[in-house]
Amino acid sequence: MTPLFPALTEAPADRPALRFGERSLTYGELAAAAGALTGRIGEARRVAVWATPTMETAVAVVAALLAGIPAVPLNPKSGEKELGHILSDSAPDLLLTAPEDQLPSPVRDLPRLDVDVHGSGPAPEEHADDADPALIVYTSGTTGPPKGAVIPRRAISSTLDALADAWQWSGDDVLVHGLPLFHVHGLVLGTLGPLRRGGSVRHLGRFSTQGVARELTGGATMLFGVPTMYHRIAEAVTSDPELVKALTGARLLVSGSAALPVHDHGRIATATGRRVIERYGMTETLMNTSVRADGEARPGTVGVPLPGVELRLVEEDGSEVGAYDGETVGEIQVRGPNLFTEYLNRPDATAAAFTADGWFRTGDMAVRDPDGYVRIVGRKATDLIKSGGYKIGAGEIENALLEHPGVREAAVTGEPDPDLGERIVAWIVPADPQSPPPLAELADHVAQRLAPHKRPRVVHHLNALPRNDMGKIMKRALTHE
Ligand code: ATP
Ligand code: MG
Repeated sequence: MTPLFPALTEAPADRPALRFGERSLTYGELAAAAGALTGRIGEARRVAVWATPTMETAVAVVAALLAGIPAVPLNPKSGEKELGHILSDSAPDLLLTAPEDQLPSPVRDLPRLDVDVHGSGPAPEEHADDADPALIVYTSGTTGPPKGAVIPRRAISSTLDALADAWQWSGDDVLVHGLPLFHVHGLVLGTLGPLRRGGSVRHLGRFSTQGVARELTGGATMLFGVPTMYHRIAEAVTSDPELVKALTGARLLVSGSAALPVHDHGRIATATGRRVIERYGMTETLMNTSVRADGEARPGTVGVPLPGVELRLVEEDGSEVGAYDGETVGEIQVRGPNLFTEYLNRPDATAAAFTADGWFRTGDMAVRDPDGYVRIVGRKATDLIKSGGYKIGAGEIENALLEHPGVREAAVTGEPDPDLGERIVAWIVPADPQSPPPLAELADHVAQRLAPHKRPRVVHHLNALPRNDMGKIMKRALTHE
């Protein structure tokens, strides 16, 4: 059995572990609070956690993991229908909350236990097998209803150790965190990650560029964010010298959960001299690839497979893409200790997700640069447009559109076309709503940068793109309007 949190017993008791706003816990205090809570949840078979961005959530999840009881983080912003689905699917017998939490109806019916972050119990010991379920995390619901991915303890320890290797991540690192705690990015990487290393987390509660500047200036070393956060940073660096200074001094700036637009990457690099590094992962696989801390952060790429992760690209006919030619597109399939075990109550979906020889089909399409760097083209389901005999990835067209000064946000989809098979459709949030860039101008802009067959044939102007809680563009909502 590999303990998940050796630092809880080994780190000096007065070492800072967690900070949420004004409240903080040392390793000694966290061990005591989690130890006390494990005693109170011991009989539960599966616990749900009302995953607000608070100290209570972090303590609840750590305690459940120590006790070997699978935890289901709930998104407090979910609607009643989604919460109802998740509760009946995962059937927790206890709900862990903060004392001040107000609960909506389907959640209110569960037996509730308020977490005491100042509790004091004996130092907990971990009793569980590496293959035991640690977390059941629901996918983001970007392409369909969320599915509950059963994540074993082994996946958490192996992914965090692989990232430690890739990022030279140590107990000296202090993370600035502004992400929600109900997905793997904010929970596994952003909360459990520092605790496994014996380092610390400072959670902003709500993300702000001022908060990032304050924490990075005050001793934090790394920032994890989603592309919408780096977009806000890219907009702010032109007028905020404090922020520029803070970012320049950071050890590591990491982006994930969706593609980081090349335009934002470039603007941050120009203003700060720092390159954001991208990593690619999923609820089902935790982390698959990353740019390494000592590697080249190439815009538009997600780096190389992490240690222990096998990755291949597979064409539609099932053959493996052999050449690293930067051009041949295939589906990313992965294998390794980082993988989930199954989708809860969905043997059909689980079976469909794996090949006969145990590779997980990610549904993401990519090419490989000649040196092996993975370049995600988009999702098979929504981002691959078959037009005029070509297979065109939405991502590069979105990146090109974002370079146009009249475009603030961009999404690209395909729609049926009698001549082309599918035609390229651009959904644009104009920088100035009074003078949105016309189709002809955008089409020329893309044709010049990429190729004529990649130009959009239709443009829609919107006030905002539909996005989920992680800032991911919901293409389903665009095309089904
Ligand atoms: P659902 O599976 O419910 O439709 P989802 O796939 O968005 O939702 P997650 O597991 O949270 O749920 O997200 C994983 C997906 O996010 C990946 O399959 C990939 O498409 C995308 N992704 C994550 N990191 C990156 C990245 N760095 N670049 C591009 N895409 C990324
Ligand atoms: Mg998915």
